[in-house]
Amino acid sequence: MSKNVLVLPGDGIGPEIVTEARKVLDLINDRFALDLEINEALVGGAAIDATGVPLPDATLEAARAADAILLGAVGGPQWDTNPDFQIRPEKGLLGIRSHLQLFGNLRPAILYPQLAHASTLKPEVVSGLDILIVRELTGGIYFGQPRGIREKEGGIREGFNTYVYDENEIRRIGRVAFEAARARDKRLCSVDKANVLEVTVLWREIMEELGKEYPDVELSHMYVDNAAMQLVRAPKQFDVVVTGNMFGDILSDAAAMLTGSIGMLPSASLDENGKGMYEPCHGSAPDIAGQGKANPLATILSVAMMLRYSLKAGEAADLIEAAVSTVLDQGLRTGDIMSEGMRQVSTAEMGDAVVAALNA
Ligand code: NAD
Repeated sequence: MSKNVLVLPGDGIGPEIVTEARKVLDLINDRFALDLEINEALVGGAAIDATGVPLPDATLEAARAADAILLGAVGGPQWDTNPDFQIRPEKGLLGIRSHLQLFGNLRPAILYPQLAHASTLKPEVVSGLDILIVRELTGGIYFGQPRGIREKEGGIREGFNTYVYDENEIRRIGRVAFEAARARDKRLCSVDKANVLEVTVLWREIMEELGKEYPDVELSHMYVDNAAMQLVRAPKQFDVVVTGNMFGDILSDAAAMLTGSIGMLPSASLDENGKGMYEPCHGSAPDIAGQGKANPLATILSVAMMLRYSLKAGEAADLIEAAVSTVLDQGLRTGDIMSEGMRQVSTAEMGDAVVAALNA
């Protein structure tokens, strides 16, 4: 039976990087006779402009029907002034994640040896880096109720959010992380703030409880402030890191930067059945949108993750990852990863080079 892939280009550099990723996906679809049906829909600012809302019903329906979703990025300053948060581009993304219960966010931070110099850290601190950050994505303070801005006595305004996780939410993300650790170096570090926040006292308890089911995985705990420090001090100490939504948001961006460019990092957001949304870790980069400067490799590597996790085409995923390594070996670089002696290429040239490497 044919499988259905929904492509959401989004805003800013989204359409540019997705165009390159589509070249790769279309080629793989033909080469491996995957019989994928590929459709496109609007999300984020593009959807607000066309329909008035960031997640039109038609897009949500298409997302529900799809076996996998490939997203570019959403957002931009032109939509940031709307006082109604429901009409912000990010709501499109958060809406898909929560409606589809894509609770398990996998963010690998791998340093390609060809880019060791691109990191702001010393090469000996980062070379060989291979971390997987597992971030809970549909709960925690980004979704907790009540939330808002209200007026207190005396007309003083206060903003408030609610940080909440129930034990089932903690357990299911914990399982994803333990399973991932089991398939890697068998070390899992759970990050919390259990010295201050009750919600993460429960988080730690549940992780300990789960740890008994995974005696082969070495479980450790770290407070989030220390984790941030350790990530830039000695990042290679980590194998798999599991944490909640907000801490994961921040730590995964820090981990991304260790690798030199956020433009190199893919991500997957999975539900309980392996259906997923795949997207680069970066945003819509409005500062370089429309200039052919964006690095499409994170989006192309997201296609590889999609093939591996949702479309069960691991061999095709391996080929794409090898092709990315080949173009780096050839010395091709977009501006974000450019260094002396390398050849700077545009977004489209980078996409074409990956296609050429796949065809070689
Ligand atoms: P950003 O990731 O878009 O950009 C940060 C910096 O990295 C910029 O200098 C940008 O030019 C650069 N960069 C990002 N991706 C790149 C790529 N592929 N190639 C080369 N350079 C790249 O983060 P930001 O500036 O904080 O946010 C911009 C917009 O994106 C905001 O509207 C934000 O809300 C949105 N955003 C969306 C997502 C998403 O769609 N998943 C994630 C984060 C931010």
